Formats: sequence, C-alpha cells, structure tokens
Amino acid sequence: NRQIHLVSRPQGEPRTDNFALVETPVAPLAEGEVLVRNHYLSLDPYMRGRMNDSKSYAQPQPLNEVMIGGTVGEVVESRNEHFKAGDQVVGMGGWQEYQRVNASQRGVLQKVDTTHIPLSAYLGAVGMPGVTAWYGLTQILNPKAGETVVVSSASGAVGGAVGQLAKARGARVVGIAGGPAKCEAVVQELGFDACIDYKAHPDLRSLSKALKEACPDGIDGYFENVGGVILDAVMLRANAFSRIAFCGMIAGYNGEPIPMANPSLILVNRMKLEGFIVSEHMELWPQALKELGTMVATGQFKYRETVAQGLENAPEAFMGLLKGKNFGKQLVKLV
Ligand code: NDP
Repeated sequence: NRQIHLVSRPQGEPRTDNFALVETPVAPLAEGEVLVRNHYLSLDPYMRGRMNDSKSYAQPQPLNEVMIGGTVGEVVESRNEHFKAGDQVVGMGGWQEYQRVNASQRGVLQKVDTTHIPLSAYLGAVGMPGVTAWYGLTQILNPKAGETVVVSSASGAVGGAVGQLAKARGARVVGIAGGPAKCEAVVQELGFDACIDYKAHPDLRSLSKALKEACPDGIDGYFENVGGVILDAVMLRANAFSRIAFCGMIAGYNGEPIPMANPSLILVNRMKLEGFIVSEHMELWPQALKELGTMVATGQFKYRETVAQGLENAPEAFMGLLKGKNFGKQLVKLV
C-alpha cells in the first residue's frame, strides 16, 4: 500500500520535501473491518492548517503518518456485515491507495449511489465542499430574492456551489476570482451575474470601485473564503444589516498577516459576522446533500474538477491548490 506521510511541518508555503512516499503492507482484516481501494483523493485548503502544530479547532496532522483526507473508492474485502465487495463508499481514507478501516462506527464509511451522480462528485458538489456552501449560504447569509450575494474564490469547489445555490434562491450573485479565464467561466458556465478578477484590482481602492460597479445596490451577503484586501473591499460596499459567513481565509494559510482594515464598519452597518466549521453541523448534512444531489443528478448544477493523476503527484497538486492552479474541486485520481 503506497501512502503519503507528512514528514516535516511547512514554514510558509508547503514544499515537496515536507512529504514522503512510503510503502507498507496491508495487514489482514479484523472482525468489523473493511478494505477499500481508494479511487479519488480530495485535496482541501484546510489540510494546510492541519500541517501546523498550533492550536486550532482540529488536532494537527501527526508527523510520519498518512496525511488525512476525504476519499471515495470501492470496497474490495469486507469483514463487516454492512459492507460487501463492490460497494462504492465515501470516507476519510487519507493520502493512500488502500484504506483498512473499522466500519462499525456510524458515519466512518458511507455507501453512495453512483447511478445518477459520478463517484468523484461525492468529494465536491455532493460532498463536504457542497455542504459547506449550503450551510454558509442558508444558515448564515440567508439571502432574500433580489438581494446581492458576493462570493470569493468563486471558481472553487465551495465558491461555485455558493453562487449556484444563491441563484436558485433568486439572489443576484457576484463572484471574485483570480484571472480572466476563471472569471469568464464563473459567469458563462456557473451562471453568476458578474465576476471580478481580483488580480486586475490589486489594491483596496480599485477592488472596491469594481465591486461598486458590479453591485449597484450594495452587498447584502458575503461568503468569505479568502480574507485580506478582498474582505476590506467588500466591507466598504456592505449594506446595513448585511451578513458575512466566515468560511475560509486562504490568503493567510501560509502565515501571511491578514488584518481587517476597518472593523468599525461592522457597527456602522449593524452587520452579522459568523464563522462556522461544516463538520460541526452533521445534523444538517442530509438536508443539504438532498438538495445538492438533486441539482447535480438533474444537471441543474455545474461543477468543474481538476484531477491530478497518481498518488505521488498529490503533494504538488496540493501546493497548486493553495496557489489557484485548480479550477473547481481538486482531486487526485488513484485508479
Ligand atoms: P478552492 O477550490 O476554492 O481552491 C482554493 C482557491 O483559493 C484557489 O483556487 C485560489 O483561487 C484561491 N486563492 C488562493 N490563495 C488566494 C489568495 N491569496 N487570494 C485570493 N484567492 C486565493 O477550495 P475550496 O472550495 O475547497 O475551499 C474554499 C474555502 O473554503 C477555503 O478557504 C477553505 O479553507 C474553506 N472551507 C471551509 C470549510 C469550513 O467548514 N469552514 C469547509 C471547506 C472549505 P483564485 O485562482 O481565484 O485565486
């Protein structure tokens, strides 16, 4: 079984020498265990935070162990009455080709139906990123029809879903993404009303002007994935009683400082700012997945995937994700 271990903690940007490819035999299954051949590995920005040894909402990734991560795959052997060879499953298999897992605990491994939804989508649109978008949008921003919702990292797995769920609720949706190609696709493919290329507006003044043009009625809801100047620019255009869902602040994940320039606007505009961690709201996942699954199965929901080939390329693909080389969900195809 080939695995990728974290062998040292990155200082700033992760590098290939923070990871090592390790080969270990798969031990025979004990009662209750299942052996899964992982087909796709999910790469997610939160993994950068886990690589640090600092206090956070989750335990750090231990050194010299398999990198954590979501996976989809197929059961190849089972000593658990609830699973049989051939079952397609989603779980937290980590950066490795095979996963030996005690599937007795509820939720550790979930069977999925690939009749109308491709297996890989259970790591994106119909998985954790999709539910993240759904939670922040419906439980925090809760836009009314006609309100304006802005989403940063709009071409990403979460951002693309936020925009489409907001459009389905009748909101005007404006994305923020890096580069003209991503912005064009966000509008043409994902159906956003407009998209601003933040790289073409590198300072606060210019970005806030672009937001003013794209959001003539101001901003009622902002789905925050980035932080820094983008947040400051949105705050300058926020309406009274507007909401911000704090989902991610990727601009600071490698340790860059991302101060908030003008917190007094929270008071002046009577804003609601709320952070959330999607895995702490498991009770809402079935409802979210039902809506997302229906939209994907009926073709109402568009999503892109960027797929790296082979486990050995996972570290490089992860570094690319933090730099915006992905468009949509970043995956690694193992089979
Ligand atoms: P994405 O698919 O959006 O990929 C990350 C994107 O971030 C890149 O493609 C890049 O897009 C953008 N980016 C990177 N650095 C910067 C920067 N300095 N400034 C602006 N944009 C940058 O990833 P996900 O959809 O998986 O995740 C989106 C966000 O949601 C992340 O912040 C993540 O941590 C957060 N998240 C939070 C969860 C929660 O429970 N709170 C759960 C899941 C995700 P571009 O080319 O446009 O710059």
